[in-house]
Amino acid sequence: MQHTAELIAVGTELLLGSIANTDAQMLSQGLSALGINVFYHTVVGDNPQRLRAAVELARSRADILITTGGLGPTCDDLTKNILAETFGKKLIYDGHSAGRIRDYFARMGRPMTDNNLQQAMLPEGCTVLDNDWGTAPGVAFEAGGVHVVMLPGPPRECRAMFEHRVVPYLSGLTDGCILSRSLRFFGIGESALEAQLRDDMNAMTNPTLAPYAKEGEVELRITARAADQDQARALIAPVEEELRARFGPLIYGADVSSLEAALLPQLRERGLTLGSAESCTGGLIAKRFTDLPEASAVFRGGVVSYTDAVKHGLLGVSQEMLDQYGAVSEPVARAMAQGARQALDCDLAVSTTGVAGPGPDGRGNPVGLVYVGLAAPDGCWVRTLQLGGIRERVRTVAASNALDMVRRWLSGLTIPSC
Ligand code: ATP
Repeated sequence: MQHTAELIAVGTELLLGSIANTDAQMLSQGLSALGINVFYHTVVGDNPQRLRAAVELARSRADILITTGGLGPTCDDLTKNILAETFGKKLIYDGHSAGRIRDYFARMGRPMTDNNLQQAMLPEGCTVLDNDWGTAPGVAFEAGGVHVVMLPGPPRECRAMFEHRVVPYLSGLTDGCILSRSLRFFGIGESALEAQLRDDMNAMTNPTLAPYAKEGEVELRITARAADQDQARALIAPVEEELRARFGPLIYGADVSSLEAALLPQLRERGLTLGSAESCTGGLIAKRFTDLPEASAVFRGGVVSYTDAVKHGLLGVSQEMLDQYGAVSEPVARAMAQGARQALDCDLAVSTTGVAGPGPDGRGNPVGLVYVGLAAPDGCWVRTLQLGGIRERVRTVAASNALDMVRRWLSGLTIPSC
């Protein structure tokens, strides 16, 4: 059966324009990847009459109703009361949720007030969606053929609750199962990928394809509905195969969270070590790598060589080179990577040097100009990037490009150089 969902975001600050309705965007993307239609979004303030009217309208035209926000302990958090009332459910005390809320406050070392326990008053007979990312539990129930799901408003909580609680719940509504596989792309933008896949995306119904833009990269989710997991996998496999045949070198992994997470096992299997020399990324590559458990098996260390003195003193970049070309230059990126490889005694070393902004550097190099280098046993490569966006984005994408050079080297792919 084809399901139709409608989203109702509750919160006056959304109507005032103080915040954007990012929960709706995230939920719509997730629902479409599950093959569930979304025809309407509503935003309503913290007002009982208007929320009631929005719910009545939504239930008349959708069989899945998802609300965000208004689950907190304050009296203007009215979502649960209105939804329970509209669907004829009493709110009853849920001891399990009350215990979890008490534990949450104990863990945070914060005092709990009685109204926090309001959050443990839940519609009778509901499925409780435990919130491991905040205090307000989510709720799901079915009444009169409509599935109602209530999620907390804070985007971090809402996303985690959707991925970990709602997707499994919704999968249970459809006959059989819904399975997704995420291919991660680097080196192609979302619009370019979408343009190349538009015809397939429009023609495909099962599995479906949905691209999601990440910082400088794209995730393409293939989602299949089938009677069981094996059949869903069998639907996904040929699509993945075709995508790999078409976009092979641009795909860095499947069902992995990041470039570094894809690299770590490959480096470990081949017994290779990595190090970094970072200027404009200021240690971001080292951070991203060391965020991973077991990074020590692979990552030797990094030098944050922000000034010329450190580039010269710790990495051995010659003063003449720094004077002649400037720190933001191809020869310096090359010398930094080679210097780090030697100083850190690693098999592979990456380097970054560039202008993260907001203004150009002293030599007039424009914002977003970054050189990323890779030194390996068989050579050294430097890539010139002209990145757009604010400082944070320039740094993130520069770090990703350096990691992508490692990936290309490991896979025997051409490494684009200068
Ligand atoms: P809490 O348990 O924190 O009280 P809640 O479910 O009651 O959560 P709200 O109080 O409605 O949620 O919103 C909490 C915060 O979450 C808001 O201040 C806002 O920053 C953010 N938020 C709420 N709804 C949305 C939304 N639709 N999109 C993006 N952010 C939102």
